[in-house]
Amino acid sequence: MAKQGNIQISSENMMPIIKKWLYSDKDIFLREIVANGTDAITKYKKLAEMGETPAFDGEFCVKISVDKDAKTLSVEDNGIGMTEDEVEKYITQIAFSGAADFLAKYEKAGGEGIIGHFGLGFYSAYMVSENIEIFTKSYREDAKGVHWESDGESTYTIEECDKTERGTKIVMHIADAEKEFLDEGRIRSLVEKYCAFMPYNIYLNFTGKDDKPLNETQPLYLKNPKDCTKEEYKEFYRKTFHDYHDPLFWIHLNMDYPFRLKGILYFPKVKSKVELERGKVKLYCNQVFIADNIKEVIPEYLLLLNGVIDCPDIPLNVSRSFLQNDRQVQKISRHITKKVADKLTGLFKEDPEKFKTCWNDLSVFIKLGCIKDEDFYSKVKDIIIFKDLNGEYKTIPEFTGKKEPAEGEDKQEGKEENKEPCTVYYVSDEAGQAQYITMFKNAGLNAIVCDTFIDPHFISYLEYKETGKYRFLRIDADVDAALKEGESKEEDYKELIDAFKAVLKNTKIAVKAEKFKNADVPAIINVAEFSRRFGEMNAFYGLAGADAEADMTIVINTANPAVQKFLSLDDEKRKFVANQIYYMAMLSYKKLSPEEMQDFAQNNLSLLNQYIG
Ligand code: ADP
Ligand code: MG
Repeated sequence: MAKQGNIQISSENMMPIIKKWLYSDKDIFLREIVANGTDAITKYKKLAEMGETPAFDGEFCVKISVDKDAKTLSVEDNGIGMTEDEVEKYITQIAFSGAADFLAKYEKAGGEGIIGHFGLGFYSAYMVSENIEIFTKSYREDAKGVHWESDGESTYTIEECDKTERGTKIVMHIADAEKEFLDEGRIRSLVEKYCAFMPYNIYLNFTGKDDKPLNETQPLYLKNPKDCTKEEYKEFYRKTFHDYHDPLFWIHLNMDYPFRLKGILYFPKVKSKVELERGKVKLYCNQVFIADNIKEVIPEYLLLLNGVIDCPDIPLNVSRSFLQNDRQVQKISRHITKKVADKLTGLFKEDPEKFKTCWNDLSVFIKLGCIKDEDFYSKVKDIIIFKDLNGEYKTIPEFTGKKEPAEGEDKQEGKEENKEPCTVYYVSDEAGQAQYITMFKNAGLNAIVCDTFIDPHFISYLEYKETGKYRFLRIDADVDAALKEGESKEEDYKELIDAFKAVLKNTKIAVKAEKFKNADVPAIINVAEFSRRFGEMNAFYGLAGADAEADMTIVINTANPAVQKFLSLDDEKRKFVANQIYYMAMLSYKKLSPEEMQDFAQNNLSLLNQYIG
């Protein structure tokens, strides 16, 4: 006769609540049930090791089977099993109270999410099942088979059954609305996601000896780094991230004290320059997958990497906001940051050539890391390099030729030299700023290339962190000072400027004149760095003032022959020449307005006609 009982926790209302809250994360039930199976095997193995029970020489494994006709999904292990008393205690009481506990925490966390919904355990299978049966037989001598069954709402039955093998089989009667979990492909992908590294072989619809387990019981990250080969790292990367481009390099984390942390972080090749691909850092707890990209544990910028992290010491049945403030978690996070910084600085020192070839793939990641984490910045600041106009990669001190005083060196020396912030010119668009680049090169000047989306922010960050040391000016922001030859006074060119202004159609732009070292270009546009940045920042944050015209000046080159003849021209010619010079300068800076473009085209047409005669 089957015994009946009431589930003591007031769980009548639990199901609808769980179903609602966890709707998007139902998948985790399979992880919970399979993990219970592997836990049961581990427990058995421990007992065998201690000699409490005879060693088992068969294969420890978990078998999952789907039966579409019977509408069941079953998970069977050959672990420790349970006696009737244990089923009562661990399933009817603990499993259910565990779920109630979980819900209480979930509620307290404002429903914002318990990491990976850990802690729901056995009960989570009721998210997809209308009824669950357990067939189990304890490892103990003389233990009898036990059959338990419940709809999870309020009542259950328990009785003897004639199970012959040690272990536990959970039979989930899948609810009609959850039919997807009777699909073999669906189950296979769930196992691959959640159970990929579980410690015992997992089979799906096991038929015989040729079947291959779906999981990798000894994932590479658990091994000692000494024993891993390059090929193994790459192979693990391909399999885990389905990326067929080899990673640039990797970091193998392996520590036991003061916390346990194992894993491998891979630096991927950046696939497209424009859009930054988000990586994936998978968090595991004792080889059980918890979730992807938990930014409370792994610093956000590290999420651009690909990796697996196994950290059994992270409290998982707590809310995310709790994790954020947990000291242990902070320590782990800091340790990961340090390891990453060490790896990068090590590479810079040991293999600068490789570092430079990897730089384009690394730079966004490093710059973002610096902005997000001062600690990280202070660790990697000396290895940040920039490409210059000759295609060479240099640190800022290398580029400016100003050596940083080394530690312990007398900082007084060179003090005079370091008083003024050092100007660093940069290019944000090599094609668009080609004319400026040519002029800079002709004048023997150099600039660094800052053309990723993060560079504007990074430049500001550097100026702020290294206050007074550097001043970054875009190549079009300091044209007159950079390119002029000798000193000139304002009144030297007053007549020219006034005459130019008098005929210029754009009355808003400021006009300046300067003698450049190079005579080729009649004029060039100068855009004040600060006002341009201000506009860019506003645009970035979607604020007003985003499209405010930057503070622009046209700088006329008095070394240019056309400019030199300007004052000798009659009014009509001045008008034509001044505006033509302006249009040409504007073109090399940015697009002209539609009206200006039309006027420019008109001018060119008349030039063409004159030329033909
Ligand atoms: P947890 O695994 O966190 O303890 P669960 O709700 O998943 O919580 O399981 C409750 C308990 O039920 C387990 O601690 C274990 O004692 C028992 N149990 C569950 N599944 C099995 C199994 N397959 N074999 C043996 N015992 C099990
Ligand atoms: Mg469990």
